[in-house]
Amino acid sequence: MSSAGSAVVIGASIGGLLTARVLSDCYASVLVLDRDVLPDHPAPRRGVPQGRQLHVLLSRGKEALDELFPGLSADLNARGAPLVDLHEDVHWYNDGQRMRRAPSALIALGMSRPLLEDALRARVAALPGVQLRSPVEVLGLTATAGRITGVRLRSSDGVEQALAADLVVDASGRGSRTPSWLAELGYPQPAEEQVRVDLTYVTRSYRREPHHLQGLSGALTNAMPGSTRAGIVAAQEDGRYAVALSGMLGEEPPTDDEGMAAFAGSLAAPQIGEVVRTAEPQGPPAMMRFPASTRRRYERLRRFPAGYLVVADALCNFNPIYGQGMTVAALEALLLRRLLAEGADNLARRFFRTAATVIDGPWSIAVGTDLRFPQVVGRRSPKVRFVNAYVHWLHVAAVADPVLGAAFLRVLNLVDPPSRLLAPRIVRRVLRGAVSRPPTLAADGSAALRSGWR
Ligand SMILES: Cc1cc2nc3c(=O)[nH]c(=O)nc-3n(C[C@H](O)[C@H](O)[C@H](O)COP(=O)(O)OP(=O)(O)OC[C@H]3O[C@@H](n4cnc5c(N)ncnc54)[C@H](O)[C@@H]3O)c2cc1C
Repeated sequence: MSSAGSAVVIGASIGGLLTARVLSDCYASVLVLDRDVLPDHPAPRRGVPQGRQLHVLLSRGKEALDELFPGLSADLNARGAPLVDLHEDVHWYNDGQRMRRAPSALIALGMSRPLLEDALRARVAALPGVQLRSPVEVLGLTATAGRITGVRLRSSDGVEQALAADLVVDASGRGSRTPSWLAELGYPQPAEEQVRVDLTYVTRSYRREPHHLQGLSGALTNAMPGSTRAGIVAAQEDGRYAVALSGMLGEEPPTDDEGMAAFAGSLAAPQIGEVVRTAEPQGPPAMMRFPASTRRRYERLRRFPAGYLVVADALCNFNPIYGQGMTVAALEALLLRRLLAEGADNLARRFFRTAATVIDGPWSIAVGTDLRFPQVVGRRSPKVRFVNAYVHWLHVAAVADPVLGAAFLRVLNLVDPPSRLLAPRIVRRVLRGAVSRPPTLAADGSAALRSGWR
């Protein structure tokens, strides 16, 4: 496709920046609008409150970002973000079971969210034809029959104006107002699927010292039925660890030193408590609540205007504990690139239909796992019940069998589809592990799990 026409992207965060990268191949001008003042260095900002929380970039996400911006990981690594073998360099606890470590090709980057955004912003701003403009707030859309023709915006001086574009993309995140903007123009609103998890995150940075985590780069333990607490430690730039403590279903991690140490000490991974107890904090903790995973079903709408797309968190946002949002945003950007290379006709229908298949896998991982908790409202199909029971036994067997840990991590990192866990060679190993169940299985944890599968 030759470069012609103009595109406007609403939101200059991860989703918006990745979309702008792809659009710059096809549109002569790409304008990215954000209501925040965009910093010229790595810094958290108001419009992205989750930027203060620990962010993990999954292995598939790192690959996708390198595909869109060749050399990005190497640049981030040069700026201090450590490369981490997710199977070998992390103390992993799933359902209280310690996964056996082994070298793998699952390499992640440990970095703060502001550092990643800063690196992407610099790369996008340097693209020919791309301009970032802030602070400007998009107030709505302009349209003619059947087509979006641009946006209505308000600049920081309070002046409102209309801006024409051949394509407008909503990358404004979870608070996207597209459903009401469409309704104002007489279009139907998308069906919305929501799964409430009432999650609270508390993240704090600590100075990293060589003896912490026995020299490894991270530690992680998940929540499970009977225990709604989870924790992650991840090495990042500037010689620090980010520690995220989280509680589901209304459980809130405390933010005072003593309370945080006690919460961290109650987790299955003792390494997390050790860091919180002994490492030097690098600033105050930040708290954030995440009520529900939300998926907007634009692919099911009969009528949708031409010249308009919705991407990333505005399309679907996931319980962040699974670390999927940025990776899915990158996969959607790669999808958009492929679709644009085939032509711009009927783009919205083609994009939403194919994006739904990209989202299906991560959505089933996040929602399916959350449905282990009896308090989470949602339909538990026999398949969901079976998979949750099976994956628990996989975790039990992965204490001794690194092949199972590797298979699980490849699915979690969106490298392999969830169905790969049901490959015959994996099933055989899970069954073998179930027969010789290791003695480390916590009796109370397993009992709680069984009650959660009812
Ligand atoms: C607590 C928490 C932890 C998370 N951890 C992870 C993780 O470990 N790994 C991971 O991959 N993902 C994680 N995520 C998800 C991740 O943050 C998002 O998926 C990612 O930021 C992509 O979002 P986005 O770009 O669509 O929207 P956002 O990042 O929310 O950005 C939206 C942008 O749009 C701008 N904007 C909004 N409205 C307007 C408007 N009307 N006009 C102009 N500008 C506007 C905002 O200022 C902002 O810059 C986490 C999320 C949360 C809440």
